[in-house]
Amino acid sequence: MNVSQGRVSWIRVHGVVMPPSEAEDPAAARARIAALLPVEEHRLAEVRLERRSLDARARPPRFEHRFLCRLEPGTRLRLPIHRGSLRVEGADPPREDPAPPRRAFPPGFRPVVVGAGPAGLWAALTLARLGAPPLLVERGRAVEERGPAVNRHWREGVLDPENNVLFGEGGAGTFSDGKIYTRIRDPRAARVLRDLHELGAPVGILVDGRPHIGTDRLKVVLMRLRRLLADLGVEVRFGTRAEGLVVEGGRLTRLRLSGGEEVPAPAVVLAPGHSARDTFRWLRALGVPMEARPTAIGVRIEHSQALIDRIQYGCVREEAGLPPSDYHLACDAGRGRPRRVWSFCMCPGGKVISASNEVGLQVTNGMSYSKRAAGFGNAGLIAQVPVEDYDPHGAPDDPLRGLRFQEVWERRAWEAAGGGFVAPVQRAADLLAGRPTEDEEILGSYLPGMRGTDLSSCLPAPVLESLKGALRVFDARMPGFAGREALLVGVESRTSSPVRIVRGADLQCPGFEGLYPVGEGAGYAGGIVSAAVDGVSAAEAIAAARALQGMAPAGGDP
Ligand SMILES: Cc1cc2nc3c(=O)[nH]c(=O)nc-3n(C[C@H](O)[C@H](O)[C@H](O)COP(=O)(O)OP(=O)(O)OC[C@H]3O[C@@H](n4cnc5c(N)ncnc54)[C@H](O)[C@@H]3O)c2cc1C
Repeated sequence: MNVSQGRVSWIRVHGVVMPPSEAEDPAAARARIAALLPVEEHRLAEVRLERRSLDARARPPRFEHRFLCRLEPGTRLRLPIHRGSLRVEGADPPREDPAPPRRAFPPGFRPVVVGAGPAGLWAALTLARLGAPPLLVERGRAVEERGPAVNRHWREGVLDPENNVLFGEGGAGTFSDGKIYTRIRDPRAARVLRDLHELGAPVGILVDGRPHIGTDRLKVVLMRLRRLLADLGVEVRFGTRAEGLVVEGGRLTRLRLSGGEEVPAPAVVLAPGHSARDTFRWLRALGVPMEARPTAIGVRIEHSQALIDRIQYGCVREEAGLPPSDYHLACDAGRGRPRRVWSFCMCPGGKVISASNEVGLQVTNGMSYSKRAAGFGNAGLIAQVPVEDYDPHGAPDDPLRGLRFQEVWERRAWEAAGGGFVAPVQRAADLLAGRPTEDEEILGSYLPGMRGTDLSSCLPAPVLESLKGALRVFDARMPGFAGREALLVGVESRTSSPVRIVRGADLQCPGFEGLYPVGEGAGYAGGIVSAAVDGVSAAEAIAAARALQGMAPAGGDP
């Protein structure tokens, strides 16, 4: 195929190996591509970096890039080209994303969004862009007030149950690794990434195969998002909890807030995350349809980042100019009926944190800052929990029995370490050898403290058996993974929501017209981007429902 016989043409160039910093510089990228292709440099009219990925299996590991290039009219190039990792093919011109059309809502139509996590924030942003800026209520506090409360929790073991790692502006994603890749194939995900970039996230998130922001940068993004929402007419109320719904004739009319206030609620986007157990309980008492869904439970496993880098790269990372490495492991393991075990939410260069929102319950998770320089690497090591495992903790028809299952094991972990958000820990080698770990053998990042123990009291026996089996399998794949320095911190229990709030194809809850359950807590997302995308979808569904009800003036979109 000859490209560009007198018209503007585009080509896609895959597998360009070069340092990432040079690839971000259009002049350097153009020179490199021209050196690889039979075209002169001035024929490359435009060069756009589309994707960057690290081939960690190559020795030495290397960055590969994908570019979209516009050729000057008249450029002759025979395609396709295949040479080593390099592949060049013709491409369609890029499609620019049009601004979402504003919808016509009736005067005074103000939806309410509950929860300022990714799902609620992007629902509010999208509603405002569509022309219906909502009231956004969030039980926790703004990020500026969250930071000090969370630091106090980690350093001193003091918890504010309404302002913590899980509750407050940005939701559960704020004190996170800020990994923002997603497996969902929804074009709205690209819009969310562009929003994040426009709000201050680095350009790398638009091109990296495994984009990452980090807690420090996420905080800035969230403060800018708050300003944008205000400019678009959204009213944000922190320290305000949704506590009930008023339903008339199967239709939602008002929302009850903490303090006794009731606000008109022609539509409610309910995005409470997976840890608002009180909220699930009042929803259940009102008869909102819900069902139990499977989840996973386990521990956080922590190593020195240098060990993970050595295993993954086979070289000294700093000398090779590579980023802290990650891993993804999965297998079926355990006696009798094996369970799926997998590494979850790996945080290179991060730390293990307490992520509880209740005194008496011990919950771990992982986070990192943008530089990922903490010296440790951690990941959840979790085993699947089918719904039948919940049954001893509630009647088989009780949709909330998964919450009770989580509570039971979180309380046991609390008791095993003696309380105060001190975490029960065991070295992987000790778990496999069947002996408890002594306090003096512990080296890890978790605060406010760790107590050596035997984790068998903190996890269901079949889960523990599966974790042991998986540790052996993973150690064979990554020699040293279950070695002396690997520390298991208990318990990683809030991996996903064990409840789903039922919704129909129009995203509304049957019998509760106007109620749109979304995000991770409602059981429709897992991770920052997929939760945000679900929020966008709910906002669009509200606009579509108003249009269907004939409330938009003739002519539709202005
Ligand atoms: C420590 C940690 C690290 C993580 N790391 C990553 C990561 O690197 N990448 C990734 O993709 N995901 C990560 N996650 C998961 C991710 O944060 C969640 O999937 C995502 O935040 C879910 O979004 P959401 O909006 O559905 O719910 P949430 O983020 O949980 O937000 C729900 C919000 O609703 C508020 N709320 C609850 N009930 C009420 C009520 N009754 N009234 C008013 N407000 C209420 C809560 O205070 C909260 O702010 C991490 C999670 C944690 C805890």
